[in-house]
Amino acid sequence: MTENEFDIKRAMVVFAHPDDADWGCSPTVALWSQQGIEVSYVVCTDGSKGSDDPNMTSPQLTKIRKKEQLAAGEVLGLKEVVFLDYEDAMLEPTLSLRKDITKQIRRFRPDVVITSSPERSLFNSSYVNHPDHIAASEATVSSVFPAARDRLTFPDLLEEGLTPHKVKYLFIIDHRAQHQQNDMGGSVTTEIKSIDVTDSISTAVEALKQHKSQVDPERAEVYMRKRRERKQGDKITYTDTFRVYRFN
Ligand SMILES: [Zn+2]
Repeated sequence: MTENEFDIKRAMVVFAHPDDADWGCSPTVALWSQQGIEVSYVVCTDGSKGSDDPNMTSPQLTKIRKKEQLAAGEVLGLKEVVFLDYEDAMLEPTLSLRKDITKQIRRFRPDVVITSSPERSLFNSSYVNHPDHIAASEATVSSVFPAARDRLTFPDLLEEGLTPHKVKYLFIIDHRAQHQQNDMGGSVTTEIKSIDVTDSISTAVEALKQHKSQVDPERAEVYMRKRRERKQGDKITYTDTFRVYRFN
């Protein structure tokens, strides 16, 4: 990413579970933090179902995972982490979720919002996506456009002083780094962007390792680096890849 390519002062990452963002885009988050960009996380669920341990209870797990997410946030230098506390594994793209995310967007006023893809693509995927991920992404995209922008949507937010906010860029984490050009009626252009995260990959790995209840440290190291690795001769660099929607 060249320095002036995106005009970003604040960024918000919205996702379903504690650890999702740290798998998906933490190198970019670490890089942006290093560059003085304020980044906030919005975690939609309480993370209360992600354990096979028969002795683990949901309230205990929620406590552990929030602590882990806050520790990862410390490593990354996040401005804040907001927990919306919807029940894990039960998330749906409801109007209530859309309103809660819209509220955070209008409050934090990010230039860019990052989330994963709301599409369920079974044919082009190597895994079956978690329904919470799809729900969180769908609600996030609908909050960015049009709910956060539109004055008359959710009038009680306006009464609270949360005025409309136009997000400049929507970054969809592109796990397949698939090239696609798409003209969406002239108001939005989309492109695939790779961000060089060579300088921040170690910080990102360290952040992911904070999710001790979810992540084997060795796997974190391999997974985070391997999928982002680019080799040119004997030079290795790392990149995060996104599909970027520019709102003109
Ligand atoms: Zn998840």
